[in-house]
Amino acid sequence: MLQKTSQFLREANYIDGAWVGADSGATVEVTNPAAGQTIGTIPKGGRTETRRAIEAADKAFHSWKKTSANERAVLLRKLHDAIMDNQDALAELLVLEQGKPLAEAKGEVGMSAAYVLWFAEEGRRAYGDLVPSPWADRRIMVTKEPVGVIGAITPWNFPSSMLARKIGPALAAGCTTVAKPATQTPYSGLAWGVLAEEAGIPKGVVNIVTGSASEIGDELCENPLVRKITFTGSTEIGKMLIKKSADTVKKVSMELGGNAPFLVFDDADVDRAVQGAVAAKYRNSGQTCVCTNRFFVQEGVYDQFVEKLIQATNELKVGSGLEDGTQQGPLIDQSAVEKVEELIADATSKGAKVVAGGNRHALGGTFFEPTVISDASPDMRFMQEEIFGPVSPIFRFKEEDEGVALANDTIFGLACYFYTGDLGRTFRVMEGLRYGLIGVNEGIITTVEAPFGGLKESGLGKEGGHQGIEDYLDTKYVCIGGLGL
Ligand code: ADP
Repeated sequence: MLQKTSQFLREANYIDGAWVGADSGATVEVTNPAAGQTIGTIPKGGRTETRRAIEAADKAFHSWKKTSANERAVLLRKLHDAIMDNQDALAELLVLEQGKPLAEAKGEVGMSAAYVLWFAEEGRRAYGDLVPSPWADRRIMVTKEPVGVIGAITPWNFPSSMLARKIGPALAAGCTTVAKPATQTPYSGLAWGVLAEEAGIPKGVVNIVTGSASEIGDELCENPLVRKITFTGSTEIGKMLIKKSADTVKKVSMELGGNAPFLVFDDADVDRAVQGAVAAKYRNSGQTCVCTNRFFVQEGVYDQFVEKLIQATNELKVGSGLEDGTQQGPLIDQSAVEKVEELIADATSKGAKVVAGGNRHALGGTFFEPTVISDASPDMRFMQEEIFGPVSPIFRFKEEDEGVALANDTIFGLACYFYTGDLGRTFRVMEGLRYGLIGVNEGIITTVEAPFGGLKESGLGKEGGHQGIEDYLDTKYVCIGGLGL
């Protein structure tokens, strides 16, 4: 178990290159969801601390933006190396506050490093244009410049990599940041301060503030020095942040909720589909925005798929994330457990059957049994609501069009998955699904090279891919005249 003396467990905020408490001295306790005991405390910062961090970031921006893309790439490569050199310690810290299995936590920290490296490279390719001019004596130049101070707000389910997707492109583009990690999992966020120091990133370029979400959020949205808000979290809070950012007309990038469908057609390889289903559903105990929320299975393979998914679900090893072989950790808190129970009760009252799991786990606390529910129908709450827990509701459909229509019947449009062995159907279904990310015969598709982002009420903007840096750049058009040509 990690000791409190670990260099990454910082019980202070990182503002202008210094580790500081809240002005009031107030703190918030952080709990280990697997054991229920307190890990430590963090400062309960608010508006004043956030304003100070923004002012530091603004001051740092004036010199950071003048560094060359190559100089920034060198520092980001050092940041990447600092993450990888400390992958085990960072992963343990993540398990301690978040609960996911150690192997998944190591994977997440590795992804954080990969994002930083990717954007170190992309920053060097933030090209502008020289446009053919309609005037003989004028030239048209289009340049890309960093937008300025970035406010970043991140959730508890991927407390390391969600910040990597924001800090990485921001720094590569020449922007500076004020980040607010989730209060449940702040240490993986504060660790970015330690890593930034270790990599030699100048003070004020990365600032991390913890505390009152609404006070920090309000200051980030309202302060005119912040030029962009990037948020990952619920659609409800995302909409509120967009509204609050309107008065100062900030750029916004939003990675919001999902309601991922997973379709299995009669012509699919059912074993492969079950394997993909387990990965797409139970990773992080079902607590990811791209986790399958609804399984739609065509009637010809319905019984076979249900039977095989029950078997695979019952084989999952539940336990503390730090124990060897654990495949599913606890849920983040009691209210997450209650939400899962409510959704199961709603479904069974409307005719669904619990065919695997269905209860709190014998381990107690916030552990929940991996669950499969058959005979799901569209009037049940999980047709429209994110479960964010280890529950697989399985709906039945007859025709391809019906399956696609059911999959699209949601305000969300983040990730979806479908399994088929037919090439024509692959294209028909892919083109029919209104989602930003589509896995065809694959259950895990996120990678730094590809643009991650939702359609409809799942968000705005992309993270990763070459698109991931664009939101951190302003486009300027310069017309140079009087050339006498
Ligand atoms: P989740 O369901 O993942 O907890 P939230 O949208 O509630 O999603 O939280 C995501 C992030 O948004 C967290 O860092 C949280 O502290 C922050 N947050 C919550 N409420 C607000 C708010 N009113 N203003 C700004 N940030 C907020």
